Parts: sequence; structure tokens; C-alpha cells
Amino acid sequence: MSDREYPLYTIKNNCVDCYKCVRRCPVKAIKIEDGSAQIVPDLCIACGTCYRVCPAKAKQPRNDLTRAKHLIESGKDVYVSLAPSWIAEFDGLPAEKMIASLRRLGFRGVGETAAGAEEVSAHIACLLGEKESGLLISTACPAVVEYVRKYLPEMTPHLTPLSSPLLAHCRMLKDKLGKDIEVVFVGPCIAKKLEADAHPELLSLSLSFGDIRQWFREAGIFPEEIRTSVYDKFVMTKAEEGTAYPIEGGMIETVKPYTAARNAYMMQVSGIQNIKRELAGLKAENFDRPVFIECLACHGGCVAGPCMSNRSAGFDKRLNILKNSNFSDRAGKRELQADISLQYGEKAVKDKEFGEAEIKRALAVIGKYGVEDELNCGGCGYDTCRNFARAMLSGKAEPEMCVSNMKQQAQRKANALLRCIPSPIVIADSRLNIIEYNDKFAETFWSEAEHGEIYERNDLRGADLRDFIDFTNLFSASLDLEQDIRREHVRFGDRLFDVVVFNIDKKQIVGGIIQDVTKMEMKKERIAEKAKDVIRKNLATVQQIACTLGEHMAETEILLRSIAEDYAGGESESSVEKPIKSYEDDK
Ligand code: SF4
Ligand code: SF4
Ligand code: SF4
Repeated sequence: MSDREYPLYTIKNNCVDCYKCVRRCPVKAIKIEDGSAQIVPDLCIACGTCYRVCPAKAKQPRNDLTRAKHLIESGKDVYVSLAPSWIAEFDGLPAEKMIASLRRLGFRGVGETAAGAEEVSAHIACLLGEKESGLLISTACPAVVEYVRKYLPEMTPHLTPLSSPLLAHCRMLKDKLGKDIEVVFVGPCIAKKLEADAHPELLSLSLSFGDIRQWFREAGIFPEEIRTSVYDKFVMTKAEEGTAYPIEGGMIETVKPYTAARNAYMMQVSGIQNIKRELAGLKAENFDRPVFIECLACHGGCVAGPCMSNRSAGFDKRLNILKNSNFSDRAGKRELQADISLQYGEKAVKDKEFGEAEIKRALAVIGKYGVEDELNCGGCGYDTCRNFARAMLSGKAEPEMCVSNMKQQAQRKANALLRCIPSPIVIADSRLNIIEYNDKFAETFWSEAEHGEIYERNDLRGADLRDFIDFTNLFSASLDLEQDIRREHVRFGDRLFDVVVFNIDKKQIVGGIIQDVTKMEMKKERIAEKAKDVIRKNLATVQQIACTLGEHMAETEILLRSIAEDYAGGESESSVEKPIKSYEDDK
């Protein structure tokens, strides 16, 4: 399967290697490859979490919009199965206008997925009525079904042997309108693309609300303004209590009214991590009555699905859904209409086992040589260093993902650089406390007599920089102005320094390279003196020659003088700061 055939993919060039998707993926179905975070379809459950959290929009759902347009253009009768969460997405839009807008796109008609939900609830009630005890896990959410089949295979036999509300609705539409019709789902879910891929005979495509908004825009359709007609009604009957499905607990509310379900305990849980925690280790044989568990991958339910414009499951959204749900006399009394039975087999993901020696070798690569080095900080996306080591051994992770190791490596490199630079270097924070320095700095500015009682020469970190040099105004100015500053010939005691102060972290950290140029200056002065002496001694001769050779030699003298001045020079510039960038004011 190519990258873009799976319901989600990574736009490699957008990926900034932040590993946020790795950290948040509940099943660690992402591997780092060629510098970007790739989804591993065999491990993925299509929950859409990575799509939600990626700050660079590098994770995207497969775009099925073009295929949907082609389907319409093919002249087939294409119907929409509209998710009940549309009420929360298109807040305040009357159903007729939504239907009219979709029909204007070319769809033959629009049905409510919630009608399939009502069918599912009736079947669940029957199943619960037939049981004296045992466990049924809902199969309304395809991401949960995928999760259970892949990661909780021992729970797979407890998956309710029914198709999802969407597939049930597709079957009902086909039963009613003909086997040849095509059905396209429109909703907030990425996992529904898995259902379309697995059951093309029932569901042709799955589009998101975002896709539909885009299609409306491209077609110049404004749903709020569209004119409606008597034909703008949901096909088959209008759904009632089934419209409560997209909120957590909504499914249970629709099963409860059935007499057959009275004996059952019903509970709900949402969010894959919560489902993992609640279902793992559950002992169905301990239940003395039938237990039904409604599981939804998105926290709060489909109203918080990954393709909702607003992904919160706040009270306002839930209220909106509840207001639209109609628990009429038919709730709890519906007859079974269609055969929606579906068996789910295991798809267990088998983790490769690694020996202790292999794990230790992998840990050593990231600088973890003993238990005390294993910080288990989670920065890499894995909850323990050992799990990260296993991921490296499986080819899913790279050593660079270990933040603590990278930090230590960076520190080691910085220290090595500091050591090998022959000039004094110091790094200070915004309060001018020393963060780092090299031996040359201590050698140059630390003195037993002056600092011995307060600071140890071997550890000046945390010391006040002002106790060692008196030109810290350059450091303060660099911090304030967020600019690098260079000043030549700074006098400190009987020595001269060329100082470069550079920003490391804006307003927070500055570094300074302080080059002792005293000897160099003395050398220059001596050369200048000698040059002047030569000039003095030979002046008469030069003048004579100048008389002879005229202006040309006079220029030579000027040149000689200028060289001498250059060597002696610098004093006149010593008070001039030279901004490296555009420093204007030394505060
Ligand atoms: S979240 Fe994942 S896909 Fe997005 S930029 Fe970060 S590493 Fe790349
Ligand atoms: S869709 Fe879910 S399971 Fe798949 S990679 Fe993204 S976060 Fe992981
Ligand atoms: S909770 Fe709803 S939106 Fe979220 S994955 Fe499941 S079916 Fe899709």
C-alpha cells in the first residue's frame, strides 16, 4: 500500500521532526524514517490523533474528494449518509438547507447515519436479551474495533457481532433504494475511511465535513442562503433517538428503552487511552449479568471527531445534539429491519521480542548505561527508555529522538568547544550569573587574593559575572538590545581586551569571548616606535631625496607615517563600539 492509499499520510516536507505525533499516538504506530514521521498502516487504528496534534499540518487524511466528484460525474445514483454530528458542525443550519446543498452538488439524496444507529440499537437490545451474562463491546466506532482487534485480541470475541451504524445504514439504503446505488459518508471521522476500504460493496467513500465545506465553496454553494424545495427531505424516515449517538453515552440511551436490555449493565468510555486502561484485563466470566460497554475513540464522542472544525466536546455541542434527538414512542420498540450481523476476527499485532542484551546495547547508544540513567521522561514519545530502546530495535525510532541524550551530547560538544578555544569565554544568564565558562576565563579573571574566599576557581557556575570583570555593561546591552556587540581595546586593570558579546537565547542568555590583546598592542607600539625612529633618523635623507625626486617621495613619506600611525593606532578607536549587526546604543 502506498503512502497515500491509507486513510492518513504524512506530507514529508512539512514534518518538522517534533515527535508530537509519536508522543500522542496511543498505539505507537509511527516510525521515524528519512527524517519524517511515517504512519505504519499495520499498526495504525486511524484514530486521527496525529492529525489533530501535528503543529505543522504534516499529517493529513487521504483526500477522497476527487473520487467523490468522479462518482457523481459517472452518472450513478450517489446518496449521502450524513453523520448526526452535522448538527454540531453546521450549527443552526436547517436540515432542508443542508440536504438542498448536498443535492446541489449532485447527490441523488441524503439519508441519516442515525437511522442505521437506531437499527444497531435494536439489534444490541436483542443480543443483550438473549444473554444471561457476559460482555459485549460496542462496534459503532471503527477506530475502537481496529484497536481491539489489533491490541486486545483476547477481547475480540466480545465485540458485538454487528456492523457499525454507518454500514448498517448503507445496507438499509441499498435494501430500499437498490443494490446499484453508491453511498458516500459525510462526517467528522477518519476511521470511516477504513470501513469504506474494507466494505466497498456497501460504502463507496468517506468524506469529512471539511471536504464538503471545500466542495460547497468550489461550487459556489452557500448553505445558509440556498433555496429549498419539498424534495429536500431525508430519504427513508427521519431519524429520531439515533441522533444521540455522537455524544458519549448517547448510544446507551437508545438501547436502554428496550425491555430486552433491562437486565444488562451498561457503561461507556471514550478515548483510546481510557479504553486501553478499562478493557485490558477485564474478566467477562466474572459478570453475573450481561454487560454492554459503549466505546468511542474520541474523547466525548464523535462530536469531538478529528474532522470537526471545532474538536471540543463542550456542553454547548452536546446540548445541540440532545435537543435534536427525539425520544418518541418508537424508542425501545423498533422492529429489526435488516441483517446487519458482522463477525470480527483477530488482527493481533505481534510485538517482536528482544533479549536483555539487545535492549542494553540499544540503551547504551542513547547514553543509558545503568538504571540510574533511564530517566523515563517520555520526551521521545515512549513512556520508558526501555520501550524506546525496543522501538529503536524495531526500526521505528532513531537515537536522535532521545531528548536527554541529545542534550547531553550538545553539552559535551559545547564543553569541548569551550575547552579548545584559547581565549577566555563566559556564558551568563539575564541576571549576569555565570552559566558556563572555560579554563582560560578562570585563569585570566579569577585570583586567589580577590575571589578565593567566595568562589572556587574550579566552579564559577552561578557566580556573579560582575565580581570578575567590570565591562558587564556590554553583556547587559546585548541582552537588552538582542544584538551581538563587539568592542575593541577594553581596558581592564593594566590589560586590554577585544570583547565580542553574542546573544544565545534572546533576553535570557549571552556569551562573551574576551581576547587579551595587551601583548599584541605592546608589540604594535614597539613596531610603531621603531618605524618613527627610522623616519626620524632618515628624515633628512628622505627630504633630500624628496627634493630630488619631487612629490612622489613626499607621498612615500606620508605613506610611511600613515603605516606608523596605523601600528600605533587603535587608541583613537578604543572607545568606539562596533556593532556586529546594527547596534546603535550601548546602554
Ligand atoms: S507532529 Fe509528527 S508529523 Fe507533525 S511535524 Fe511533528 S513529527 Fe512531523
Ligand atoms: S491515526 Fe492514530 S493510531 Fe494511526 S498513527 Fe495517527 S495517532 Fe497513531
Ligand atoms: S469516536 Fe466517532 S469520530 Fe471518533 S473515531 Fe470513533 S467513530 Fe470516528
